[in-house]
Amino acid sequence: MSQPPAHLPSARIKRRGLMLVISSPSGAGKSTIARNLLEHDTGLSLSVSVTTRQRRGSEIEGVHYQFKSHREFERMRDSEALLEWAEVHGNYYGTPREAAEVAMAEGRDMLFDIDWQGAQQLQEKMSADVVSIFILPPSMDELRARLHRRAEDADDVIEQRLANARSEIEHWREYDYVVVNDDLDRAYSAVRAIVQAERLRRDRRPGLFEFVQGLLEG
Ligand code: 5GP
Repeated sequence: MSQPPAHLPSARIKRRGLMLVISSPSGAGKSTIARNLLEHDTGLSLSVSVTTRQRRGSEIEGVHYQFKSHREFERMRDSEALLEWAEVHGNYYGTPREAAEVAMAEGRDMLFDIDWQGAQQLQEKMSADVVSIFILPPSMDELRARLHRRAEDADDVIEQRLANARSEIEHWREYDYVVVNDDLDRAYSAVRAIVQAERLRRDRRPGLFEFVQGLLEG
């Protein structure tokens, strides 16, 4: 789902950037879906959040998160450098404002892997640009099994994440789309289809007006 080749008329029709918000309880497959999307869709870049959470072994500073101390986080928050922020599982997470605003202004699409609190804040501030997707696990048993298989967190952390999963899931109605991840390939295809359709929305493509004028005059 990369950008069309520059010689095609559809490549010249400018449109607004898309803010693709994906939320789910941890373990529902959101990160894998997000990673696949970013790998195969060159028109999409990730909003790298700042967090006060400890870095996990597999995570790279600046790629998965920007890891900050509490004081650094609070400084960013208080100087309006964050577009939204929230406390999740006892840690602070936030979306850096500048990268997102530059992407939107340039008509580039951005992926936000954030929780329901962040999704709500972005909907309030920039509803026209936000497309939100909630990923559900097929069952709570499967969610627990996935968190254990991932083996990235201690048992007590997993129990806390499961408890939090229930309150996260309660917000499913606030999203534009809901995808049940019972099969990763199917869930991924569904998310790709959503992105593709949203990119084609007429109201997101002010450049269409000129294109159709030219078409009719030609
Ligand atoms: P994790 O610690 O597993 O990486 O993330 C925990 C939760 O925090 C996930 O649901 C993730 O989507 C959410 N999260 C990550 N970055 C942000 C952010 O910048 N803002 C908000 N509101 N939530 C975030």
